[in-house]
Amino acid sequence: MKILVTGGAGFLGSHLCEKLLLTGHEVVALDNLVTGSKANIDHLFSNSKFEFIRHDVTFPIYLEIEGIFNLACPASPKKYQSDPVQTLKTSVHGAINLLGLAKRTKAKILQASTSEIYGDPNVSPQNESYWGNVNPIGIRSCYDEGKRAAETLFSDYHRQYNLDIRIARIFNTYGPKMAEDDGRVVSNFIVQALSNQPITIYGDGNQTRSFCYVDDLISGLVKLFDQPGINTPVNLGNPVAINMKDLANEIIKYTKSESKLVFKDLPQDDPVDRLPDITKARKILNWEPFVDREAGLNKTIEYFKNILSA
Ligand code: NAD
Ligand code: UDP
Ligand code: UDP
Repeated sequence: MKILVTGGAGFLGSHLCEKLLLTGHEVVALDNLVTGSKANIDHLFSNSKFEFIRHDVTFPIYLEIEGIFNLACPASPKKYQSDPVQTLKTSVHGAINLLGLAKRTKAKILQASTSEIYGDPNVSPQNESYWGNVNPIGIRSCYDEGKRAAETLFSDYHRQYNLDIRIARIFNTYGPKMAEDDGRVVSNFIVQALSNQPITIYGDGNQTRSFCYVDDLISGLVKLFDQPGINTPVNLGNPVAINMKDLANEIIKYTKSESKLVFKDLPQDDPVDRLPDITKARKILNWEPFVDREAGLNKTIEYFKNILSA
């Protein structure tokens, strides 16, 4: 298949391009490089089945393709909050343009949605039938509401025009190729630990997340895309929770760092607990994560060691 990956130069997008090329697809990566980088896809340019287009998804684009993975959107709170209007446009105008492209070309289209559509959830773990607890006017809303509107658009293009859609609700994912200045917790803690700088815990560090290693997540995304007829949302993430203080201490241990913890203000609307219920993915995709935190963190630490010493 000829597949378009929007956000193809980002963290997840670049891993996805690699995986799709390995399985014999032609890949067009499209990215405006706002948070992604050409360094993530440098090694793919020599492959004749790979192309790159620098473009912003908020503007229309006309291509001939058979499949679309729509990953374009900054994912780190620090990054998506730095230009909130553009973040919302990216999710909403971007979804409309890509759905229009999918409609014209009859391409199958997958949306990279997020656990953030559940907001600050008041049930745990979260399954796909939970509608969420989202502040519509807070500093995270540009991302949360944009992704919720994109899910609505995908569902309506399916109902109204019979588009073959997929919606992946991705929970916190980490690994090599996260940007050093990305601002998300795993990359922040590893970069701080490796340079013996204080580890910045926001709030008291008792808030919980669960972290999925990138290879596991990409295999889930591809399985969901390939599985016929799954037009409703599917959670993809690692179902093992940890609080941020314990995560910091694990990273200090694996990096043998001398860093100390420092406590900073908790950002507004930071979800207290987030944990995926992956029963649906297990059942319909026969998918679950295999890489545990120790193995995944050590691979990510190796990556950042190389980046920081370069
Ligand atoms: P990332 O910031 O590394 O990648 C996003 C990519 O999209 C970047 O390369 C960026 O330059 C590009 N982009 C942003 N706005 C664009 C626009 N208007 N036009 C074209 N390109 C644009 O983040 P990531 O972690 O790789 O996330 C990829 C997707 O997965 C995002 O849609 C994100 O919301 C979703 N997601 C990621 C996670 C996670 O934990 N990594 C969790 C939930 C959802
Ligand atoms: N679009 C695009 N590429 C295409 C087809 C459509 O970028 O190949 C965009 C175009 O900007 C359009 C949007 O997608 O406004 C939605 O397309 P659709 O056909 O659903 O709506 P319409 O063109 O009728 O507004
Ligand atoms: N966090 C932290 N220190 C940091 C970065 C993040 O304590 O340097 C916390 C953040 O407040 C949140 C959790 O780690 O509770 C996960 O944050 P991240 O930005 O990675 O993703 P989120 O799940 O909030 O979108």
